[in-house]
Amino acid sequence: MDYEAVIGLEAHVALNTSSKMFCGCRVVDSTTAEPNRHVCPVCSGMPGALPSINKRAVDLGILVSLALNCKVETVSVFARKNYFYPDLPKGYQISQYEKPLATGGHIKIDSAQKVTKVRIRRVHLEEDTGKLIHINARENRKSASLIDLNRAGVPLLEIVSEPDMRSPLEAVSYAKELHSLLTYLDVNSGDMEKGVLRFEANVSVRIAGSKQLNARREIKNLNSFRALQRSIEYETNQQITAHKSNEIVLQQTLGWDESSGKTVFQRSKEHSHDYRYFPEPDLPPLKIHDEWKNAILSKMPELPHAKRRRFLSMGLTDYDARVLAAQRRIAEFFEQAVQSGANKNPPVLPKSIANWITTHLFSIINEVGESIDQINLPPEHLVDLIEFVLSGRTNANSAKLVLREMCNTGTEPEFIITKLGLEQTNDQATIIKVVDQVLGENPDQVAELLGGKDSIVNWLFGQVMQAMDGKSNPDLVLTTLQSAIKRASYTRDN
Ligand code: ADP
Ligand code: MG
Ligand code: ZN
Repeated sequence: MDYEAVIGLEAHVALNTSSKMFCGCRVVDSTTAEPNRHVCPVCSGMPGALPSINKRAVDLGILVSLALNCKVETVSVFARKNYFYPDLPKGYQISQYEKPLATGGHIKIDSAQKVTKVRIRRVHLEEDTGKLIHINARENRKSASLIDLNRAGVPLLEIVSEPDMRSPLEAVSYAKELHSLLTYLDVNSGDMEKGVLRFEANVSVRIAGSKQLNARREIKNLNSFRALQRSIEYETNQQITAHKSNEIVLQQTLGWDESSGKTVFQRSKEHSHDYRYFPEPDLPPLKIHDEWKNAILSKMPELPHAKRRRFLSMGLTDYDARVLAAQRRIAEFFEQAVQSGANKNPPVLPKSIANWITTHLFSIINEVGESIDQINLPPEHLVDLIEFVLSGRTNANSAKLVLREMCNTGTEPEFIITKLGLEQTNDQATIIKVVDQVLGENPDQVAELLGGKDSIVNWLFGQVMQAMDGKSNPDLVLTTLQSAIKRASYTRDN
């Protein structure tokens, strides 16, 4: 019997606000800031301190909800989710529960083969907890845990999908699509290694094609796409084995152990009544009127999915369209280059610009760091360079050197081509002279070639290119070489 995975994801998104969800403390990078420096009576849970709602966090929550095609509710309500944990000084987390910010949306993920729609169940606002740091005090063999409350109260948006994904890869595609969307909207930095975007995967299995929803297990705190994929793969296999041997899969909460590649049991699943939710008495219901929503909608940028479609219609390959649309800054760079290419005579086409970016430019970006902002290249300069290659001013090989130098210095290709002497020789007479010289210097190879060893042509071609310092026009060299060889063979045969 064939089994299939049923997967629903919950995403916890730290919102890019300058202050926390319910107080004025600054949001700082919790991996580098000095611990407990950004804390006040509200976020450290002092009795009697009063929270107030961060409007900017609500703005960003609405923006994401609209981008996910959700219905933003006119009234949503904050509630107290009560539980004890040392990183939660109040003894409860403020979170939206029965009345979330938004409901009922979807996200489209497309692969080369098909488009899949994953439904979004709900989007709600909440606050993050503090951070526990576990240390081992070797001397007396005791361990201890330290608490950093800088992160306590940071605005979080929780995005809950329906159980619509059917494979680990599909879950990763969804997560990547969401990541791309959130960074496009500039609501999240996307630095997953800093824990600003964390996933929980709910996994169950069933007989392929059945409609049944079996008991699921929830894997907590997945901070990378790789962990997401591996943990779901592992869990799916575990559950299939259990089903095959008629073992019962119980609803459970699990952790993921990266080093052993296994999920580990944490607790049997808690139920919502365990948390004794009740409406937060210190906060009014959140009312979102149409003008508020519409003002945010009017600022919605074009989203990755739509951009990808448009790039495809410009004649790009599926791969190029996907990688160019995935990051907003890269997409902007590409579009500026396309605009400048359209003004050239003859125009430099989007397809060749895309090609240069996804090959040569990406390899330079990968060497220096990770972001296109780290290199010193105005898009117009790239287009100038491509134009020089197309018009034969420099050859494609030299142009790679020029591009590297352009990125280092921020100067125009014109200047670098001249400075490095990388102008291409298109002069027929010079090329003929060098070809004749190379043929004259290598009589043995020429004899072999005429004797039928065709591959020698490539070697001779290399010799000519080398003799010209790699600067000649390769097409011209090849045709000149071929006609010289034809002449030689004619002379020999007659
Ligand atoms: P809770 O609030 O207890 O975490 P929900 O019912 O709201 O539970 O679901 C949480 C997540 O679990 C959602 O992403 C949902 O899609 C997913 N989910 C629910 N049932 C299943 C199931 N049988 N198999 C896999 N995922 C599921
Ligand atoms: Mg959950
Ligand atoms: Zn505070």
